Amino acid sequence: MRLEDYHPISELVVPEHIVSKPSFPVFDAHSHWGKLLLGDSYPEQYDTKEVVEKFKEIGIKGMVNLDGFSGAELDKMLAKTEESDGFVKTFGNVDITLLERPDFESYVRRTITESKAKGISGLKFWKIIGLEHKDSTGKYIPPNDPRLQCIWQTAAELDLPVLFHIADPVAFFKTIDNRNERWEELGAHPDWAFNAPELYSFETLMQMQYDLIKSNPNTTFIIAHVGSYSENLGAVAKWLDELPNMNIDIAARIGELGRQPYTSKAFLTKYADRVLFGTDCTPTMPTGVFNITYRFLETMDEYFPYDDTPDGAQGRWRIYGVGLDDVTLEKIYYKNAERLIK
Ligand SMILES: [Zn+2]
Repeated sequence: MRLEDYHPISELVVPEHIVSKPSFPVFDAHSHWGKLLLGDSYPEQYDTKEVVEKFKEIGIKGMVNLDGFSGAELDKMLAKTEESDGFVKTFGNVDITLLERPDFESYVRRTITESKAKGISGLKFWKIIGLEHKDSTGKYIPPNDPRLQCIWQTAAELDLPVLFHIADPVAFFKTIDNRNERWEELGAHPDWAFNAPELYSFETLMQMQYDLIKSNPNTTFIIAHVGSYSENLGAVAKWLDELPNMNIDIAARIGELGRQPYTSKAFLTKYADRVLFGTDCTPTMPTGVFNITYRFLETMDEYFPYDDTPDGAQGRWRIYGVGLDDVTLEKIYYKNAERLIK
């Protein structure tokens, strides 16, 4: 038998609590309603009113859509979500590949100001900074590149939070061999690997992330995926202690948080004011991820799947609930998001 054909069934018999509705209304601060995950044809892929109703039925009161971009793309996105009646709050963007243009700074200021007037609630940046785009000298753009400073300044001036996805799981930066804990996931998605020697290392990216947040104390940052480092909550806790303008979301990291339930429970309780609920979902995806996330946050259930694949798409492990108290739950479910996202 090959490893890929092995799908063991757990014989463990323990209490199961399926949470179909959360204890409090939920605001999902990390979802994708546009071309980033769905491609250019996204307007034909769902009916906005219908999916909003679907989400409301499972206890969601609002969502951040991170796919606003700017200019004509933003207009297209806002037209598509208009019928959500305020349920969808869209984050915009600026094109950082223009950063060597002499008028980049005025482009940034004009674009963000225009986008805010059109109705964006924040800005979204991702791995195109740090891991994808190279400037004309052939160098990747560090997240703390001084040329990008005008973006963070403008965001602070216009009171727009910045959601930034900087790194991926640590194992994506390591050698892909028989000791890599995400070997099967990387086998299914070889383009997710960031272990090439010319790329910034995970540690370097984390230092740049720290410096970026530290040098922009007036800008509110939401660092996606548990501050980029869900495998090491001690490190994230230290950053949160030192950087009052840093916040995090838990999108797509229930698998990590749930395999360290004692550490996660202490972490989520202590930093309850800094953690935002998120799923990384799209309007076309099945909604099971919400039930799993509610179950992880609300119950003390043991050894259950963190996604809807047979063995877990991120790795062959299962998770444990953290049974958070109501005060903590309420903050993570919607209060923090409502404070940070206007
Ligand atoms: Zn995302």
